[in-house]
Amino acid sequence: MGKASNKNIQAKLVLLGDMGTGKTSLVLRFVKGQFFDFQESTIGAAFFTQVLSLNEATIKFDIWDTAGQERYHSLAPMYYRGAAAAVVVYDITSMESFQRAKKWVQELQRQGNPNLILFLAANKVDLEEKRKVGAEEGEQYAKENGMTFLETSAKTAQNVNELFYEIAKRVAKTR
Ligand code: GDP
Ligand code: MG
Repeated sequence: MGKASNKNIQAKLVLLGDMGTGKTSLVLRFVKGQFFDFQESTIGAAFFTQVLSLNEATIKFDIWDTAGQERYHSLAPMYYRGAAAAVVVYDITSMESFQRAKKWVQELQRQGNPNLILFLAANKVDLEEKRKVGAEEGEQYAKENGMTFLETSAKTAQNVNELFYEIAKRVAKTR
């Protein structure tokens, strides 16, 4: 019996969602371990790379952090084209951002790669007192749409590494 080979995988990951939901903050928390209360808004998209080591594989993520603004919407397909996984982000204090997240999911289901691994991140859970979207509501929607659901906080780092590791594990299984 040979040793299990450690695969090297390169995977494109895209974050989508309304402006202000915390996409950039989640990526910066994961990549740099930092959080900023006054995060400058992203213009167009930002690109990050991060390497994650699992037992079974080493994953190099190419992370595309998009801008959620409507005016950039027409640019979005080039960001999710060829993506292995997508994280759709909403803000638990904004019902509107949850409705927008559903629109992104529909678009990905229609236009995205059919094997796209979909995650739904309910961000800003540290703002429990301002919550407008129930955890069950997000979880239910994710379940109906074959998505993995996590409640996150870029501010406190709750579930942020878990989110990216979970994505890495799912991607590794498909390669
Ligand atoms: P993006 O437009 O989706 O990239 O959102 P940003 O990452 O720019 O974040 C928008 C605002 O929300 C910034 O002021 C962040 O500091 C704040 N923010 C992001 N994530 C969190 C979080 O988990 N909790 C709290 N309380 N604020 C957050
Ligand atoms: Mg941003």
